[in-house]
Amino acid sequence: MRFFGTRGSIATPGPQTLRYGGNTSCIEVRSKSGTLAILDMGTGAAGLGRELMARGEPLSGHILISHTHWDHIQGIPFFAPLFAPGFEWDIYAPRGIGQSLRQTLAGQMQSIYFPVAIEQLGATIRYHELVEGRLRIGDIDVTTRYLNHPTLTLGYRLEADDVAFVYACDHEPHSRGLATGVGDIFGEDRRHAEFLAGANLVAHDAQYLASEYPGKIGWGHSTIEYAFAVARLAKVEQLALTHHDPIRDDAAIDAIVDTLRSDSLRMAGPHILAAAEGHEVDLSPRTFVAAAKPRFLVEASLVTALVGRSALVAMAKPSRIDELSDFLRADEVHVHLCGIEDAPRLAEREGPMLVLLEDTGDDRAAKACHAIRRLRGGDDLPIVLVTSGEHGAGEHRAHAGAVDDAFTDILMHPYSPIYARARIRAWLMRAACRWVRPSEPNDEDRRLAATRALGLWQTAPEERFDRITRIAVAALDVPIALIALMDRDREWFKSCLGLEIREVHRDDSFCGHAIFEREPLVVSDTLLDERFADNPYVTGAPGVRFYAGHPLILGNGCCVGTLAILDIKPRHFDNSGLSVLYDLAQLAIGEIERPKGV
Ligand SMILES: [Zn+2]
Ligand SMILES: [Zn+2]
Repeated sequence: MRFFGTRGSIATPGPQTLRYGGNTSCIEVRSKSGTLAILDMGTGAAGLGRELMARGEPLSGHILISHTHWDHIQGIPFFAPLFAPGFEWDIYAPRGIGQSLRQTLAGQMQSIYFPVAIEQLGATIRYHELVEGRLRIGDIDVTTRYLNHPTLTLGYRLEADDVAFVYACDHEPHSRGLATGVGDIFGEDRRHAEFLAGANLVAHDAQYLASEYPGKIGWGHSTIEYAFAVARLAKVEQLALTHHDPIRDDAAIDAIVDTLRSDSLRMAGPHILAAAEGHEVDLSPRTFVAAAKPRFLVEASLVTALVGRSALVAMAKPSRIDELSDFLRADEVHVHLCGIEDAPRLAEREGPMLVLLEDTGDDRAAKACHAIRRLRGGDDLPIVLVTSGEHGAGEHRAHAGAVDDAFTDILMHPYSPIYARARIRAWLMRAACRWVRPSEPNDEDRRLAATRALGLWQTAPEERFDRITRIAVAALDVPIALIALMDRDREWFKSCLGLEIREVHRDDSFCGHAIFEREPLVVSDTLLDERFADNPYVTGAPGVRFYAGHPLILGNGCCVGTLAILDIKPRHFDNSGLSVLYDLAQLAIGEIERPKGV
């Protein structure tokens, strides 16, 4: 792996930063077999891009973005390989709420900011929106975890060739005690350490010194002391301090590394280095402790997944109730309000996806928390303690055991509204479900134009299509068959047998996956499939359990929709079934392409 940008917040070139570098976050990682992963696209990405172009051959790679703050994306418009036809890029970033990744990245390339629009990028680009979980890119296994930052931010753990590398920027200590580097580790900080566990190298946010931290609470960054403490507890082999503060010159970083190295020697901690632009680290295999496997695949439709869900807010202080409820409602989460004593009963009855309990300075919140866990069979419902200094600091009581591990997390006052909101979103997203939103094909604009040009959208039923769905139902012995067209947001059924509805949101559609893959998609049992188990058409009416869909790819290469069959019970679907599905899809394509009046 090689550092191309090591600076936090803003590029800081100049004589004072020559050795450690002035460009903002960017790291190149390669597996032995050549899979290319790029972590963040700060201004350092421009130099990396020039190098990749100089190598001459077209290539493909994966760009993992921690979050879309400037210092992590400003290199994108200057990364030449994105403009080069023949190159292929998969770009991953945390799923936001209300705006797609592509829209967010396009924002900084609007003409008032930059002369080239995102549409003009010449490479093939696929966008992926991530939550917490696992995915595989080439031969690299990637685990993502939410970090503690005022916007949704993911840390990435990369495992390949028996080596583990973790990138964790930007991240603030959950515990203000641990920010000083001393104290017990518990709750979310402990889980953060588990995420780093046994890694050969961790590149960690280390923007502040503990002595600077009191003035920086809520800014979303680690202290050097915290990064060291967590890496040591996680038995990390090497710790690379990065996201250097713009005010930190080379000499100051040297001094920090010297001090930390002697501490680390004394305390049997990791080898310490400060990330420096151009510095390369060759990671050799050693046995590492594999990170705990999260349950869910990481591409998920959270906007829709959150709709119809509820949260329980059990607190006494009206101002706090209003503020937290507003955040939840803004994300379309239904709020149940109650007193702390009523929380267990309501949690059992309403099945919320998140519980916020107020710390009243006694053991009432802890009791309620235990009761909820008991009633719900100890499941992993996020239960968060909202506390403040006025009851003698929740954190100290946490150390004393009064606030125990039954709580998922602690939200400590004073917090800024955007901070609380980002934290709440992370909890909601973790509680979100096994349901993957179909990705947008790379040729989406062309595909849309071709679909619309057919002139079939929302036209009256036609016998020439209906007979195909009738044959599908009879030949394949299923209750539901449809010929669907896919627009930007909606899937509409030109012909549909066995369903009341005529259209679904694209996010909820099964066909969107077949269209993205351009391959037949067979789901034998939706409940056993991470992509569909919590899809609203699986959990609600009509209770889809089986799906097989064939993409409808026209002569011009555009995939306009699918021919699909569904059942409300799981099914085995073999090759003979697939070949019938193929034949029916060809018939549907023939009808779609038939000139008008012929
Ligand atoms: Zn940053
Ligand atoms: Zn940031």
